[in-house]
Amino acid sequence: QIDEAKAAASVENLRSPICCILGHVDTGKTKLLDKIRQTNVQEGEAGGITQQIGATYFPMDAIKQKTVVVNKDGKMEYKVPGLLVIDTPGHESFTNLRSRGSSLCNIAILVVDIMHGLEPQTIESLNLLRDRKTPFIVALNKIDRLYDWKAIPNNGFQDSLAKQKKSVQNEFKDRLEKTIVAFQENGLNAALFYENKNMGKYVSFVPTSAHTGEGIPDMLKLLVTLTQQRMAEKLMYLSEIECTVLEVKVIEGLGTTIDVILSNGVLREGDRIVMCGLNGAISTNIRALLTPQPLKELRIKSQYVHHKEVKAALGVKIAANDLEHAIAGSRLLVVGPDDDEEDLEMEVMSDLEQLFSKVSTS
Ligand code: GDP
Repeated sequence: QIDEAKAAASVENLRSPICCILGHVDTGKTKLLDKIRQTNVQEGEAGGITQQIGATYFPMDAIKQKTVVVNKDGKMEYKVPGLLVIDTPGHESFTNLRSRGSSLCNIAILVVDIMHGLEPQTIESLNLLRDRKTPFIVALNKIDRLYDWKAIPNNGFQDSLAKQKKSVQNEFKDRLEKTIVAFQENGLNAALFYENKNMGKYVSFVPTSAHTGEGIPDMLKLLVTLTQQRMAEKLMYLSEIECTVLEVKVIEGLGTTIDVILSNGVLREGDRIVMCGLNGAISTNIRALLTPQPLKELRIKSQYVHHKEVKAALGVKIAANDLEHAIAGSRLLVVGPDDDEEDLEMEVMSDLEQLFSKVSTS
């Protein structure tokens, strides 16, 4: 079984990276997410974008469509199967787990308002990303608010900028420079994405507008390129499961459920699972694995699709007994045939102790 896993683990067989969005309030995080999703909702289900529990899945076909304008030479490579974007900006499980080594997010988008530059929560987010060693890009959002900006909807950024008046180009350069300097003052080297010659050392800035859609193709292209170039190893399928509890919710007809992000591996109906609970570790069996019906409103009850088995990366709802005291942010483990349940219980609970000791000392 291990050989099989190893054989499957190659750069030709990568799982989808998981992307989080964070930044200061009102910089446009929610709007950016809406904008990426929306263009495809209009095109119906053809793009294959699916709403998941707490996340949205973009298959590579959808990303290809959305990056056409910045891939005119056809040289862009698409190796990952898609991208899973966590829906809730600044979700607590992202911050909750800051003391742990492994991370829910493989890559992050830090959103900055070009009219405001660096703000207090931007610095908080920066420190968080740095602590967690999460690679990220910066979306320099709201470029349409530059004085006299003439929008070309959903265009690539460079082309849009080239078509602006000199005064607009100058205002852009000025604001970009100021933000780059502010980042430097916080110990971070940054560069405009198409001038960035060293993605390992410099963080890329992508100018975007969540209103006009400009720069969004560039942002998607950068996310895909960066994950493929810099994280192939992290994106290989593992036989071991990697799963995080996002939320604990009572659902009529299902009882207490947990919404989880499965980052790697496979979950099956009936699996014995272990996670952190307020009164000690919780061990229980998966009664149902659920995802929303395609294109239907998430919150309507009994609209779920049942699965016998789900594969990473995706968002899924788990129904099981004894979930009342589960803790959002907890890791979820599966008890395998050779595992000792008590060992796993101790393992997940050690996360919690680390978390509390971190909290009390900081
Ligand atoms: P969040 O708090 O970061 O999630 O920010 P929101 O997405 O809720 O956006 C905050 C406000 O900024 C809303 O009024 C948005 O309409 C507006 N906004 C977001 N993105 C843009 C943009 O690209 N251009 C302009 N002009 N306004 C934007």
